[in-house]
Amino acid sequence: MRRKLAAGNWKMNGTASSLAEVQALVSLHCAPSVDILICPPATLIAQAAGLCANSPIMIGAQDCHAAASGAHTGDISAPMLADTGAGAVILGHSERRENHNETSDLVAQKAVAAHAAGLIAVVCLGESLAQREGAQTLDVIAEQLAASLPDGTTGANTVIAYEPIWAIGTGLTPSLAQIGEVHDFIRSRLSERFGVQAAEDFRLLYGGSVKPENAAEIFATSNVDGALVGGASLKSEDFSPIIRALE
Ligand code: 13P
Repeated sequence: MRRKLAAGNWKMNGTASSLAEVQALVSLHCAPSVDILICPPATLIAQAAGLCANSPIMIGAQDCHAAASGAHTGDISAPMLADTGAGAVILGHSERRENHNETSDLVAQKAVAAHAAGLIAVVCLGESLAQREGAQTLDVIAEQLAASLPDGTTGANTVIAYEPIWAIGTGLTPSLAQIGEVHDFIRSRLSERFGVQAAEDFRLLYGGSVKPENAAEIFATSNVDGALVGGASLKSEDFSPIIRALE
């Protein structure tokens, strides 16, 4: 049985004072029946991980370099993240694919690095509005899924997040039928590649304008095992009810 996962992506938000939100979640969720992951900016990972040391809450990063070390000014490697207390890393978020020209091939290389460092890779996929309107959604997802997951990917070392680009930070969400269609499709593609049994182990998260108000219905949708939450993960008063909706 897959354990559900509520993941928060703080993006480029948060300074030391924001650690109070992590502390609040630690207090509110001491024995959750679902997994909880918070991905603050890299500057806060060590302190956040310290706060969560005796808590079931995991701290993660938002990106890593594909190499373990070397002359890559400004980058952070997967072993460094693990050393700092991270247990997971988001890879291939559409904002990185767009702003940093990250390809699915690069995402796969980063996933290899993450796995080697013992980090769970949260691999993001999603179509643009033009692709959705052009009825290309499933083709785009198929292509990104195939190319972004390296061999050696399992449900234990990887989580897949479906995040339609047009739903991120816009307040728009796909219909529940549309979310279910994509999640069912991802599960079937994983079955084809890794086998039916192994495919059952993967957690499939939905991301894009998840809020306390819409979380329950999204979580009741076919093959949705949790959420990757942006804006509503920044405040414990918003993220906590989303976690509760998953429990
Ligand atoms: P929002 O929840 O702010 O729409 O962001 C979703 C997202 O991109 C999470 O990675």
